[in-house]
Amino acid sequence: MAENNNNNNRTEDGQGGYEDVCIICHRPESKAGRMFKLPNNICVCDDCMHKTMDTMSQYNFPGMMPPFYDFGAMTNQTSEGKAPVSGETDSRTETVIETDKPDETDKREQDKPKKAVNQGIPNISFINLADLQNIGSVPNRQKIKKKKEGEQTKPIIDIKDIPAPHKIKAQLDEYVVGQEHAKKVISVAVYNHYKRVATGTMDDIEIEKSNMLMIGPTGCGKTYLVKTLAKLLDVPLAIADATSLTEAGYIGDDIESVVTKLLAAADNDVEKAESGIVFIDEIDKIAKKKNTNSRDVSGESVQQGLLKLLEGAEIEVPVGANSKNAMVPLATVNTKNILFICGGAFPGLEEVIKQRLSKQTGIGYQAELKDRFDKDKNIHNRVTVEDVRKYGMIPEFIGRLPILFTLDGLNKEALVKILKEPKNAILKQYQKLLELDEVKLEFDESSLEAIAEKALKRETGARALRALIEEFMLDIMYEIPKDDNIGRVTITREYIEGKGGPVIDIRSNSVQRIEELNEVKED
Ligand code: ADP
Repeated sequence: MAENNNNNNRTEDGQGGYEDVCIICHRPESKAGRMFKLPNNICVCDDCMHKTMDTMSQYNFPGMMPPFYDFGAMTNQTSEGKAPVSGETDSRTETVIETDKPDETDKREQDKPKKAVNQGIPNISFINLADLQNIGSVPNRQKIKKKKEGEQTKPIIDIKDIPAPHKIKAQLDEYVVGQEHAKKVISVAVYNHYKRVATGTMDDIEIEKSNMLMIGPTGCGKTYLVKTLAKLLDVPLAIADATSLTEAGYIGDDIESVVTKLLAAADNDVEKAESGIVFIDEIDKIAKKKNTNSRDVSGESVQQGLLKLLEGAEIEVPVGANSKNAMVPLATVNTKNILFICGGAFPGLEEVIKQRLSKQTGIGYQAELKDRFDKDKNIHNRVTVEDVRKYGMIPEFIGRLPILFTLDGLNKEALVKILKEPKNAILKQYQKLLELDEVKLEFDESSLEAIAEKALKRETGARALRALIEEFMLDIMYEIPKDDNIGRVTITREYIEGKGGPVIDIRSNSVQRIEELNEVKED
């Protein structure tokens, strides 16, 4: 059993590139030094082992010390160099203080002697290490990735490898439709950030961190933009939701859990995590609550708690678990080079902007000017730090997010483009699926407009597109594979609006409307 466990966790390089962690003090091998490997993958560092020994040696247990001090017996290796196999009990892993074998003839003696002979220490038995099996077999996700020698000095992102902003933007263009301004800002910010990471501290001129705050309605591509960016740069990304964060000690996720997520995304490689990206969504939900008498544990306190992360601090985070507890190893992550991007829809921010703009203008024309701002669809582009502060974000928090930019709500044209243009556009996905059945799927232009119009009504941005397409593609995906003669399907506006069926081309190119599909649609 012990042998099996060991083998499972072992890979070609012996440890799978993960460090062992002491089960008592939770320090990794790199910090604690030599480890004693006990059965079932339990590791104890030199210090803890000796402390335990010293404590135990205070008691003068007859018959105990010799086998216990035999470290060879405590490791996986038996004297024959073999690990104990399940079923066989290794006598040295279980030391029960039983000095005299009870005399079978004298039953009364059998109960008494243990106490007497054990010099006043009643019924002490060593832990059977097999009982620690569940605790002991620490999964790799709870281990910290080992730093390979020589690799330590090599930066993850080489300054020469950072693509120039226009190249980053060009790559983003392949996936993200529209949002030109946002893409430009983010490309420059990321370029500067990683330049800063690569150069380390630059003499007297220290480049400031380029943490960002992006504001845009739901479904306009905030998360998608960050995800695409992280993928392009090949850096770990953690996406956290600010609504679930609470001040430490309250129900909800600790603020530091965002760093734990990043560490997990980086495969527990601390160095990799330290140059990753953290995206905190729904940041507007932690705005300072107005008129509240109770303690604001999920609002202002969370902003306060995030300050030190944004600024750069050494954070001790649990590895492979959400909360710190006695059984979880800890790792220290420095957030100095982690890029934090916060995003939120900030509903109601328009009103704050309008109020400010109206105040700035002369009194006499107020009514007329107010009207003008009402009609301005892109009013949120005029947002300033002052507006965000009024909305409920504390000045220290906004100060640590120096790059503020907005994303536009998506219009009909943008939605049509999202359907067909990005590299992994949803229509391309369906076309590929049907291609496997040797059927060509086409959408006429008016059908795409119809889908976009329907999506706009749902007011959830591009998110509505997927739901809508899933709805009407269901019948097609169900019916088409039934008939091998079908060579091409063309989706029309009528089909989207439920007034007709798609145009079906049989392989011989004769055009036919399939009545069954109409019927299904009418149902
Ligand atoms: P939010 O702004 O609420 O974070 P998301 O980024 O999660 O919205 O967008 C939801 C989905 O919509 C994405 O997974 C993506 O497929 C699509 N999407 C949104 N905006 C765009 C865009 N500008 N270009 C391409 N796809 C987009």
